[in-house]
Amino acid sequence: MGETRHTKVLIIGSGPAGYTAGVYASRAMLSPILVQGIEPGGQLTTTTEVENWPGDTEVQGPDLMVRMEAHARAMGTEIIGDIISSLDLDQRPFVAKGDSGNTYTADAVILATGARAKWLGMPSEEKFKGFGVSACATCDGFFYRGQEIVVVGGGNTAVEEALFLTNFASKVTLIHRRDELRAEKILQDRLFKNPKIEPLWFHEIDEVLGTESPLGVESVRVRNVKTGKTQEIPAKGVFVAIGHAPASELVKDSLETHMGGYVKVEAGTTRTSVPGVFAAGDLTDHIYRQAVTSAGMGCMAALDAERWLAEQD
Ligand code: FAD
Ligand code: NAP
Repeated sequence: MGETRHTKVLIIGSGPAGYTAGVYASRAMLSPILVQGIEPGGQLTTTTEVENWPGDTEVQGPDLMVRMEAHARAMGTEIIGDIISSLDLDQRPFVAKGDSGNTYTADAVILATGARAKWLGMPSEEKFKGFGVSACATCDGFFYRGQEIVVVGGGNTAVEEALFLTNFASKVTLIHRRDELRAEKILQDRLFKNPKIEPLWFHEIDEVLGTESPLGVESVRVRNVKTGKTQEIPAKGVFVAIGHAPASELVKDSLETHMGGYVKVEAGTTRTSVPGVFAAGDLTDHIYRQAVTSAGMGCMAALDAERWLAEQD
């Protein structure tokens, strides 16, 4: 039997939004509890250099998140390593249950569960996940020293991952379904200048091919989206970098969502469709999806929660 903890403000998520909410809620003397989830530090722990966090020309993503955690803790946020598995927003106080068996009751909730990597959704991708197919170059790039690999996608993540993987791989093929990248121009410049990277335009992966025993990737079959022609590209690693989807499963039936699962907030605030529940960061943002905007929304959520709690008193 787990224990039950009550808090004025429960923050769910430990990315830039969650930790910033922790800093502000602590300074408002709300003694928040922050539950970290399966990925303490959030998405930035899966990258290397971050070059657009104000005040740091360059900082390693994991280092930045360690600093944010320490900052929230120093201000008075209680940080708990647990995963919220259910959240009841029908009763007051709100009730969250953790995988640990613990229950958290809260007068107000700040949701900052961010986003998770999207997958292509083909059976062969699923089969080789962890055996050559990955969505995290910083986690798995090291295993592909001297090997040929492919990266799928055309956004900032795909380009950054392709560049990072050239530290290990002998060749990186960037497979994109169009002939234009979404990535920032500075990243595109670096990509086109890198002799180890070859873009393959107008192509999608049809199937990941490999060996059964031991399980491992050998190549991908790609298809030209214009002509339908297929070809095989040798690759020991396949890095899928096609974007992220909001992690809104906890609240998909209890809060209004839109644009494919993003939690809807009242314009210019972090107020959701349930009074006392606030949402911040990538969970609610289908446009900007940056560390600094997430942190900004975390600040807003703590201020919104503080005002709402004061009104209840
Ligand atoms: P996230 O960082 O997604 O964190 C979500 C948190 O919620 C995690 O801690 C997770 O454990 C927790 N959580 C989820 N479900 C639960 C649950 N059920 N219970 C408890 N906790 C839960 N942005 C930039 O500005 N600059 C960059 O250079 C940059 N580089 C990036 C590189 C990569 C590879 C990626 C993937 C993203 C990058 N981004 C960058 C985007 C940036 O990381 C995100 O915009 C930002 O992390 C979003 O912050 P967040 O707090 O909303 O959520
Ligand atoms: P994204 O910007 O949404 O880009 C996803 C890419 O994958 C697009 O090029 C898209 O193609 C492609 N794609 C989507 N579904 C596909 C499918 N089923 N098959 C093949 N290709 C598919 O995602 P992201 O690159 O992960 O970036 C997410 C957010 O994080 C962005 O806001 C980004 O700015 C931010 N971020 C920032 C940095 C940084 O600041 N340095 C680094 C990483 C991420 P189309 O272009 O054809 O749609």
